[in-house]
Amino acid sequence: MNTSKQVAWLEIDLGAIKNNLHQMQSITGKPILAVVKANAYGHGLVPVARAVFEAGAAWCGVARMDEALALRAGGVDGSILVLGYTPQEDVAQAIAQNITLNVYDPEIAQSYHQAALQAGRKIKVHAKIDTGMGRLGVFAEDGVEYIRFLRSLSGLELEGMFTHFSRADEQVGVSETERQIARFNTLLDSLESSGLRPPLVHAANSAGLLYFPTARFDMVRAGIALYGLNPSSETPVPANFRTALSLKARLHSVKILPAHHGVGYNHRYITSGEERIGVFSAGYADGIRRKVGNVALVRGKRVPILGTPCMDQCMINLDSVPDAQFGDEVVLLGVQGEEQITADDLAAAWGTTNYEVVCGMANRVPRIYRE
Ligand SMILES: *Cc1c(COP(=O)(O)O)cnc(C)c1O
Repeated sequence: MNTSKQVAWLEIDLGAIKNNLHQMQSITGKPILAVVKANAYGHGLVPVARAVFEAGAAWCGVARMDEALALRAGGVDGSILVLGYTPQEDVAQAIAQNITLNVYDPEIAQSYHQAALQAGRKIKVHAKIDTGMGRLGVFAEDGVEYIRFLRSLSGLELEGMFTHFSRADEQVGVSETERQIARFNTLLDSLESSGLRPPLVHAANSAGLLYFPTARFDMVRAGIALYGLNPSSETPVPANFRTALSLKARLHSVKILPAHHGVGYNHRYITSGEERIGVFSAGYADGIRRKVGNVALVRGKRVPILGTPCMDQCMINLDSVPDAQFGDEVVLLGVQGEEQITADDLAAAWGTTNYEVVCGMANRVPRIYRE
């Protein structure tokens, strides 16, 4: 992997993603739907989807039809489920491209049925049940009637049924998750006894599949854990999972600033004495947050980012790294020598979650893949 010409870049270890998929296959013994929405949590939609299908994923899940079409355009021909809303106008294309849609209420189902009749072919759908998330879906109590209704619409091919957990990543949410599983099971029992059970039933996200064995049903949906990241500090991934994403840049200026010299916009940092200041080429338009107190790794040492990041650059103090020079690699997320900055570290510093950290990696940053 030659990065010498890159100014700032993301390195993505597809081998780590494949490893994590295999770990989840052996933990759960179930087919995996790999969630690759939001540019595969920043890791790159098409390369990640190709890698997971190669590694044996059963399905890919995306949030939007555009993402599903980008997968097809990228030559990915495995099963795809759109987890979010898809407009009726896109149904014909979904049929043509063999993309499965989420039907989460009777009106949507009816509109897809109409569009499918027009297209002269069935649209594949999964029915969404709201067991407690309070987002998309028909309440579990109304599930039998809903599934019966879906089965009456000749334009629909009901492939599956799913629900989504609200609190599977929280210690204090255990009883709530158990209640969600119980509601889903009650519905499943009724569907089974009336011969209406859809073929492919799924519920668990990463935290659910790792921590609630009874939530695995016919398939599990793995997002954050696929990328080797913890759903939360209370629900970490096992030690044999590996992170896949690093954000790197290069030092493009090294110079001495005199004492009492301001650094960057609004002079949020002022040198105390003479200081050796480096500038590297990555900023808040790449995915680093515009906060005071960020850190970077240079030559295996942790150094402070001074003041707030600029759009395309940041300044760092290099006094502890006297041999640092133009062209050196700077790590903003990932490992260098003995040091490491994790997505969890950044999430803690930025007051958010590791999900938001990796999804916040900008499109302009080139992704460089290795196996
Ligand atoms: C995003 C999403 C997932 C993946 O969640 P993780 O916590 O990242 O594993 C699973 N299912 C649905 C419906 C989602 O929207």
